[in-house]
Order: sequence, then structure tokens, then C-alpha cells
Amino acid sequence: MNADHSPRAEVVIDLGAIRDNLGLLASRAAASGAETMAIVKADGYGHGALPVARAAVRAGATWLGTCSLAEALDLRDAGITTRLFSWLDTPDVDFTPGVERDVDFSVSSLAELERVSSAAAGAGKPARVHLKIDTGLSRNGCPPYAWPDLVKAAADDPRIDVVAMWSHLACADEPGHPSIDAQAERFADAYEIARGVGLNPLRHLANSAATLTRPDLHFDLVRPGIAMYGLNPVPQAEKLTPAMTLRSSVVLTKRIQPGESVSYGHTWTAERDTTLALVPVGYADGVPRTLSGRMSVWLDGRRRPVAGRVCMDQLVVDCGDHEPALGAEVVLFGSGARGEPTATEWADTIGTIDYEIVTGMYRPRVRRRYLGEDDG
Ligand SMILES: *Cc1c(COP(=O)(O)O)cnc(C)c1O
Repeated sequence: MNADHSPRAEVVIDLGAIRDNLGLLASRAAASGAETMAIVKADGYGHGALPVARAAVRAGATWLGTCSLAEALDLRDAGITTRLFSWLDTPDVDFTPGVERDVDFSVSSLAELERVSSAAAGAGKPARVHLKIDTGLSRNGCPPYAWPDLVKAAADDPRIDVVAMWSHLACADEPGHPSIDAQAERFADAYEIARGVGLNPLRHLANSAATLTRPDLHFDLVRPGIAMYGLNPVPQAEKLTPAMTLRSSVVLTKRIQPGESVSYGHTWTAERDTTLALVPVGYADGVPRTLSGRMSVWLDGRRRPVAGRVCMDQLVVDCGDHEPALGAEVVLFGSGARGEPTATEWADTIGTIDYEIVTGMYRPRVRRRYLGEDDG
């Protein structure tokens, strides 16, 4: 199948854009002596963890990060040999296969340390651990009052190889927010305590926003996610290219007269004779129903409004006196380069973040196609 077929619902991922975006982030990191861990959790933010991981490694990432061990092992199964880090699982997950297959683990508590340590015993080799200090996000991570005991226990355990210490920022997407410096200060205190028990861990703290705005917080490793996918977490302009496009096709057109209404609830009524184009994509394919009445699509060289409600499997475009061809391409969102809507615009319209829009495209019914797999 080539690019000219008429998809029902198709996500196109531009791996060249991912390489360019990651390359930019990695060069920022390298300028302050840091390596780059590309974050590919949640199936690469809906872009496909494996192709994204390969693109990121090719563009300079020396680490990959996933949320769960299962996500990390999927990458190992697919032949990824890059350093892998995973940070969140439930207490019943057996870490042994992770230790065996060189997945680094985050540890936030003595209980977690104990579990990783017994996995190391089972695997017959030390476990690589990144101790997580909670510097103020109050999510996972070890609270400062428990940190001295945790670093001591980790330092004393011969089955534990403390590779790094790390934390995560709460408000990095609001440059200048006072919590950023406050978290950095607690991070520095925690580092001193770790040094005090003889550890010499790598440090990592920066997500995409901090990678772009706070070189002083790059330390040894940065952990960008969203910016690699081309979505900018900070207001200032960076040369990032959104990698994901959602497209569909026109499957039916019809003329309607003034006074005729469209879609469930008849929330939209034609004021003049107009041509409607039916597009077979809906909220089951990741188009939020809350965009009803507030969205347009890119069709035949311009934006055209969606008439009435977004349904589960379909939506209807008001084309005025234009008659699109059957099979004509409909771009729901893309990079914005041609004037089409973007995931960021969708998010702004419905009051969420673009992370949720693209991650929500992780859907079995929506086909994925990759561009730029071979070049570069
Ligand atoms: C998701 C995540 C990141 C990446 O954050 P972005 O804002 O997408 O750059 C980094 N670190 C941790 C711990 C995360 O959960």
C-alpha cells in the first residue's frame, strides 16, 4: 500500500521527524555533557514504542525509558540492546527477568529494594538500580525523611548496583516556577546524603521541558518524551516537528437543503444549500466527541468545519459548494505545516494536553503507517 490509498482511520508516524526532534534534544543535552534517555512509555506516547525506540537510538539516544517492566521486556524481545530503565510496577511483578535481561529499575522504598534484591539473587547477578528521591511531586519516589535509610541499605547490599539517583519535576512546563528550584535544591541535598554513604550515582531529573529550558538541570542524563514526538511542552518556539498525523477519507457526498440537520441530536442545521462529506472516523478512533461543533478538518487544500456531533465511527464535513472526490484525503490533525489542525489545537479546544491526544491514538482499530523507516 502506498501513501495514495484511502484509509478509513490511519495514523501516520514520521520517523524522520522523531529523529530530528530527538537529535535536537540530544545535542542540547550533549552541550552540557549529558546523555539522552528517550521515553517510550505507553507505546511511545501512542506512536509505537519499537519504531520510536529504533529511531531515537539512531538519532543519539543512549538510553530508553519505559514505565513498566513489561514494556521494557517487549523492547528486549524485539532485539533492542540499548540501556533500558523502567520505573513503576505493582508489588506482585517479578523483577527477575528484568535483572536477567539488564533492565535498570527505579527503587523508591526499602520494600522495593528488597524485591529487586531478591530478583537479583534469583537472576544470579546484581540488579542495576536508580534510587528515586521525591523532591516535591509527591507521586512515586522516596520521601526525604526515608532517604538516608534507603541509600544506606542500597549501598550495603552487594546484590544492588546503584547506577543513578533521580527525580521528576512537577512544573517544568512553567519556566520560572519556584517549585523547579526548590526541587533542584532537595535533589542536591539528597545527592550529598548518597555521597555520604559512599555512593557515586549518576543523576537525572530533566523531562522535555527542563531539557529545553534548564541546562543547569541536565546532570548526567535527560529524559525527554513529548518533545521527541514534536510537541512543545513550553511556550517558546523550538524547531520541533509533530510526528503524528491522523487521516481518513471521504466515502460519500450529498447535497442538503437549508433547514436540514446533521448527526445525532440535530445540533447543526444547514442555512443554505451545501455539500456534506462523510468521513468514516469517530470517537472510537480517537476523535474526542467533545470536539463536536468545535473542529475542522483539512480537505482539498483548506480547513472545512465538521457539522454536528462526532459519532463513534463517523463525522460529517460541511463543504459548501465544493464537491470532494470519493476517497479524497481528510487530515484530522497533523504537523500543521500545510495549515491542518494539530493535536495541540485539539487539546487546547477541549481543555486537555496534547500528550493525551496522541497517547489516545493507541487503538487497535486505527492502522499505523510509518514514514522514513529506511532513510537517514
Ligand atoms: C513521562 C515521563 C518523562 C517524560 O516527560 P515529558 O514531559 O514527556 O518529556 C520523564 N520522566 C518520567 C519519570 C516520566 O514519567
